[in-house]
Amino acid sequence: MIDINPAHTLSPSVLKFLEASTQGHYINGEVVSGAHSGSIPITNPATEQVIAQIDIADKKLVDQAVSSARSAFRHSSWKRMSPTKRQGLLLSLADAIEAEVDSIAELLTLENGKLLAHAKSEIRGAANTFRYYAGWATKLEGETLDLSLRQAPGRQNFAFTRREPVGVVAAIVPWNFPISIAAWKLAPLLAAGCTVVLKPSEVTPLSTLYLAKLFGDVGFPAGVVNVITGDGETGAVLTTHPEIDKITFTGSTQVGKIIGKAAMSDLKDVSLELGGKSPGLIFEDADLEDAAKGIAMGIFRNGGQVCVAGSRVYIQEKVFDKVVADIAAACQKMKMSDGFDVSSELGPLVSRTHLDSVLGYVDKGLSEGAELVCGGKRPNEKGYYMQPTIFASTDNQKKIIAEEIFGPVLVAVPFKDMEDGLRLANDSRYGLSSTVWTKDISKALHCVSELDAGWVFVNAPARSDANFPLGGNKQSGIGRELGKTGVYNFTKLKSVNIVF
Ligand code: NAD
Repeated sequence: MIDINPAHTLSPSVLKFLEASTQGHYINGEVVSGAHSGSIPITNPATEQVIAQIDIADKKLVDQAVSSARSAFRHSSWKRMSPTKRQGLLLSLADAIEAEVDSIAELLTLENGKLLAHAKSEIRGAANTFRYYAGWATKLEGETLDLSLRQAPGRQNFAFTRREPVGVVAAIVPWNFPISIAAWKLAPLLAAGCTVVLKPSEVTPLSTLYLAKLFGDVGFPAGVVNVITGDGETGAVLTTHPEIDKITFTGSTQVGKIIGKAAMSDLKDVSLELGGKSPGLIFEDADLEDAAKGIAMGIFRNGGQVCVAGSRVYIQEKVFDKVVADIAAACQKMKMSDGFDVSSELGPLVSRTHLDSVLGYVDKGLSEGAELVCGGKRPNEKGYYMQPTIFASTDNQKKIIAEEIFGPVLVAVPFKDMEDGLRLANDSRYGLSSTVWTKDISKALHCVSELDAGWVFVNAPARSDANFPLGGNKQSGIGRELGKTGVYNFTKLKSVNIVF
């Protein structure tokens, strides 16, 4: 019996899905159990109840999944499929996802703790990502090239480039947006004609396993999409597998470095979407109420478990106290409750381990002498809840400012003028996202060019869109996903010269 908020009733399809004692992997179009090295319990972070078990795929099972993806890549049913047909499959998949929004969202809320409304918007966003990349399947193109090579007398040449699928992809994703991030990888790689073995996070695999069967239902050939479950060791076996042509990874900088090094030792193509410690810059001429709301939303949405969360805010000295008070007022009003409570504004954090890590940063902030403006505590005995928290500091060198906390913890620091603000904002080993709040367009444009980050949002909190490339500078990653770049990532260019 799954223990959830009595105001919500789980869909029959979710209850049926959770009946299985252990959830199998999805390989070659079938649910597969067996070859494993142990199992992992999946916990509802709102109730601390174990709701499912998953197998940890061992080497034999990883081999099976990779060889399924390899034979599907070579098989004419996928290799020779017309771009229009690939487009059609991606569109059908988007429709199938829309039809299952409620079930996938319930599983996501159960395993991750996020609000059901946010889970639904994540699933709908994923359907839109598949629709967006469906369009790209029919638009990949090469170029014709004029060469200066001298031809033998009487001979001519015709040179061109082709974009070909990169091959078999290993996709590794984190737990914070399991379905969005899986879609950011699956949709473009399928549009490009690749095949994949996807490993979701061991913390949130259920929604992805439920999604996996939809690929077979809408007619993707068996083996094109495979999903295996497991922990970091399974991920390491997958990413170092000799039959993998490309790795696309989203997760922590720490694991990204391990994967990057392993990829280089085999010279595998790799994209890394990693951690962040994204700054916001609020100038005294900004719409201050709007800025305070935007900063609160940018850090407290999804409990701050967002790679682009604006976790550092730099506020011009003259308006510092007012803006901090406004953000604190917004955060003290937030209703904290489980994701199935429709009035909830903040669900629990994803796991006990993660809650302990975030609380550990609160202790570090206090021992470093930062001023605790509000929050900082675990409010309930049950569930991994954490109060929205604000620190103020005049020193930019603290651990709570340098390190990614990945929770609802904001640190506010005052700045004097634009150059001072930009210096503080760029003083980080990360460079994922940033926001600027001002009514002065020339100031905004100067910040746009000076901020060392993959994203800059002016007068709005950071949000993703399928046509808006995402990726980090410095230790926030290598490469960009989404947009046109997102699909090109899964192609390799072949240059051809025909002499006739
Ligand atoms: P994580 O790095 O601990 O795990 C991510 C995935 O990697 C999981 O599936 C895990 O099982 C797997 N993994 C762990 N060790 C591995 C290894 N040695 N080899 C291969 N795979 C391995 O990250 P997390 O805690 O799941 O997610 C939070 C992190 O993700 C944060 O740092 C956040 O900033 C980052 N993130 C980045 C983006 C982005 O677009 N840049 C988006 C979302 C999350």
